[in-house]
Amino acid sequence: MRAIVTGGAGFIGSNLVDALLSRGHEVHALDDLSKGDRRNVDRSAELHVADIRDPGEAFDAARPDVVFHLAAQADVRVSVERPAFDAEVNVLGTIRILEAARRHGAKVVFASSGGAAYGECDGPAPESAALRPLAPYGTSKVCGEEYLSTWNRLYGTAHVSLRLGNVYGPRQMPHGEAGVVAIFMGLLRDGGTPTIFGDGAQTRDYVFVADVCEAMVRAVDRDGGVYNVGTGAETSVVDLYGAIRAATGIDREPAFAPARLGELRRSVLDPGLAGRELGWAPRHSLAEGLDETWAFISRRS
Ligand code: NAD
Repeated sequence: MRAIVTGGAGFIGSNLVDALLSRGHEVHALDDLSKGDRRNVDRSAELHVADIRDPGEAFDAARPDVVFHLAAQADVRVSVERPAFDAEVNVLGTIRILEAARRHGAKVVFASSGGAAYGECDGPAPESAALRPLAPYGTSKVCGEEYLSTWNRLYGTAHVSLRLGNVYGPRQMPHGEAGVVAIFMGLLRDGGTPTIFGDGAQTRDYVFVADVCEAMVRAVDRDGGVYNVGTGAETSVVDLYGAIRAATGIDREPAFAPARLGELRRSVLDPGLAGRELGWAPRHSLAEGLDETWAFISRRS
């Protein structure tokens, strides 16, 4: 297939570019480089430096069959400080991508966020759980999903949304909603002391980036729908820090600081539907994923 990966110079997007190239597809990356880095994009892919709010030229050049839509304003705090900007990129940008995809008859796979969409969880959240975003970022992601569903009903398209857990792995940047692994490992490498906010008992569902890319590729064959892409396992920040200590071999005590306002206590996704309908399951344990991530981060200065 001919694929466009929006956000293809970013963390997950550039890993997806690699995954698609290794499967023999023609790959185009569309990124405005506001957060991404052109060095992340493999030379076998074509990089189009463009904004998702004006994607026409890049789409005309690439003529895609499939669009993996990952470009976003992905910083929760920015969404609170600048909600209109967040909506411009995440809502208007997604509409423009849907329209550009429609002109080329292309299928869209959209990167939504489980943690941001469900809000506080009382156990692994299935796709049917109530959506209670705690920040404009989550609202704009849910909105994007709804636009995909509306396009499916209106135009008979088969676009798919994936609600990702907290993704980690090589090339993650220490910003965005789940940068904690990159932040902790970067500090340990550089001789710094990682800080845990609150009591460290808050939990997240950490999913390795290669497993996420596999789910995205599998989603291309589905006829619409919304799927969780997580492990179903909760890891507290304290336990994550312990696992990072083991992966890095650096035995340094963390610092503790007061809890941050509005932070979720529990976030965990039920991946059962993706297992049944996409035949997908995470292949990397947390220890394996952290080992691969450290192999990457420890080589960088
Ligand atoms: P990232 O910031 O590394 O990648 C996003 C990319 O989009 C960047 O390269 C950035 O330059 C680009 N971009 C931003 N605004 C743009 C615009 N207006 N036009 C064109 N390009 C633009 O983030 P990531 O962690 O790789 O996240 C990728 C997607 O997955 C995002 O949609 C994010 O919301 C979603 N997601 C990520 C996580 C996670 O844990 N990292 C979890 C859930 C959902």
